[in-house]
Amino acid sequence: MRKPIIAGNWKMNKTIGEAKDFVEAFRVEVASVKDVEILLCPPYLAVHEVAQRCQGTNIAVAGQDVFWKESGAYTSQVSAKMLLDAGAEFTLIGHSETRGRFGKEDMTEGQFAFFAESDETVNCKIKVALAAGLKPIMCCGETYNERQAGNTDSVIKGQVKNGLADLTAEQVGGMVVAYEPVWAIGTGEVCSTPEAQRVCAMIRAKIAKLFGDVAAESVRIQYGGSVKPDNAKELLSQPDIDGALVGGASLKVPDFVGIIKAI
Ligand code: PEP
Repeated sequence: MRKPIIAGNWKMNKTIGEAKDFVEAFRVEVASVKDVEILLCPPYLAVHEVAQRCQGTNIAVAGQDVFWKESGAYTSQVSAKMLLDAGAEFTLIGHSETRGRFGKEDMTEGQFAFFAESDETVNCKIKVALAAGLKPIMCCGETYNERQAGNTDSVIKGQVKNGLADLTAEQVGGMVVAYEPVWAIGTGEVCSTPEAQRVCAMIRAKIAKLFGDVAAESVRIQYGGSVKPDNAKELLSQPDIDGALVGGASLKVPDFVGIIKAI
């Protein structure tokens, strides 16, 4: 039985003070929630503050990214060891915004890939996180243009195969994969429930092919993309959707609590 996992990705939102206020209100609201793993993914600067305030609660903390080297001359980057030291237990890897894939379009004029992540860097980051004891949540998903061209399945299968390359079945079985159609992120345009279930089942089948049935049955697969309190219940009741990665609706306590309680 896979434990559902709901993560709130705050992206570049909330100062340390705002994060503190959120956690103070949020932890009371979810204190009675059992059998759901709850994660907050604050910006790096607030990870320590949030982790301190979540100590002894049912809320864990995740980074939004991690670098693939242990230390050194990598200006602006944050290592797995630093995240663990600040109190994080998980980290997102390969979010579409770090892959440089935005909204409904691939990059258009005026948009810049601020990290231009590739499947190869995603794979390096996952390996470094696992080696350090940080649990990775690997994001994958197709853009609007890729979906329109009928390439959804091949794009996602490629991201799964390359992102998880060289890992063991045991490592993959302990991981979380987030299916996030890029066109549904922050747009209010949610993927239909049957289609989200179909793609999540396809990801599980791909993992079964690459790593075996045991890994496929234990890996947790989240859906992400405009999840709100009013669509969460239907999405989260699907057999291959084991939770949600939530952006905008995780910024307000009542909205995020509504999603968690929908499960
Ligand atoms: C996300 O950023 O991972 C996300 C799913 O955002 P939103 O919920 O706002 O679509």
